[in-house]
Amino acid sequence: MEDRENELSMYQEALHIEYPWYIIDRQFNVKAQRLDIFLGFRTGGTLTCSACNTPNQQYYDIDMDDQSWRHLDFFEYKAFIHAPHPRVKCTVCEKVKYALVPWSRYNCSFTQKFEEYVLSLGKEMPVKSTARIVREHDTRLWRMVHFYVDKVLANQDLSAVTRIAVDETSSRRGHKYVTIVLDSDERKVIFATEGKGGETIRAFKEHLEQHKGDPERIEEYCSDMSPAFIGGMTKEFPGAELTVDKFHVMKLMNDAVDEVRREEQREQPELKKSRYLWLRNPCDLKQGQQEQLKTLSQMNLTTGRAYRLKLAFQDLWSAPALVADLHLKKWVQWALHSRIPQIIRITETIRIHEQAILHWFKTKMTNGLIEAINGIIQAAKRKARGFRTVRNLVAVIYLIGGKLDIQVH
Ligand SMILES: [Zn+2]
Repeated sequence: MEDRENELSMYQEALHIEYPWYIIDRQFNVKAQRLDIFLGFRTGGTLTCSACNTPNQQYYDIDMDDQSWRHLDFFEYKAFIHAPHPRVKCTVCEKVKYALVPWSRYNCSFTQKFEEYVLSLGKEMPVKSTARIVREHDTRLWRMVHFYVDKVLANQDLSAVTRIAVDETSSRRGHKYVTIVLDSDERKVIFATEGKGGETIRAFKEHLEQHKGDPERIEEYCSDMSPAFIGGMTKEFPGAELTVDKFHVMKLMNDAVDEVRREEQREQPELKKSRYLWLRNPCDLKQGQQEQLKTLSQMNLTTGRAYRLKLAFQDLWSAPALVADLHLKKWVQWALHSRIPQIIRITETIRIHEQAILHWFKTKMTNGLIEAINGIIQAAKRKARGFRTVRNLVAVIYLIGGKLDIQVH
């Protein structure tokens, strides 16, 4: 008898079960692979109303229908908490309402600990994989993710936002686009919506106004050089100044070098399979690759010239701010005289946005964090073969980048 008492009090302590709740019994079923823990309830204390969250409500009666909550696994066994459900006569609602239980939010069949675990996995892997690990249907887990995302959005306060980063990602095989807006100072996602370009910027403006934000307070933004974003921002946020995201500029540069290489390799077979040599930073190459690159560079190829232009552009980011303007102007002249059409084409774009590229030296803003979130999303997309709906994709963006507060009460 004493052993059993000890065991129950161990569960009580491990599960943080406190007065007026206590553990009555536990059933451990190896065949069914589950542990069931049964709680009792002592009347006399006060409770919190589940409808209006008001504490110190008088106990009214108890609903004896079995309610259960999935908890964290006990070793490899699923664990469930069972408890009667007390009700209160709420002085605010002026009605009889269910009381909150300390281990779960209202009307949810998972405990808070279980939800925290699922959401932490959801930041790292596709919801489908999480569902497999915790042995639940993914529909139930999606419902949980949406609940917390909706809760965060309902309470969002954007009054302090002054600097934002804007970018897009794509859903299944790039058919649908989602625009992401980040608070650059808080480093968190504050808005995500289906679509790309000007319309989504207008949607963000409305969202900002609905959540205590002021469009006139947006002073700086960071984005790529796409006319749709810039056009939308200029129209909706005329006071905001653009910093061109340097990762996007370098991507343009790398794409141009690669196009040059692909064209040239038809005449110069040595260039085949050399793609990564020209795209990586020289210091990231292995010794053999460095030697290969050196040999190719000495061959007087157009790809080699395009590559040197790329490296010279890259040096801009480590140039002293005072000479950055001169560095860029010199580079533009060199590139325009390169006689390489792919380079000349992007140089025209760069020239148009010269000031916004140089503005980086003042703001140091980039889209790096959105790119990181995008990387996780693209990996999840490959593993889970896409998100079933754009709504799910948007929810995962908030889950990964939105710093959700997942307190249940
Ligand atoms: Zn109430």
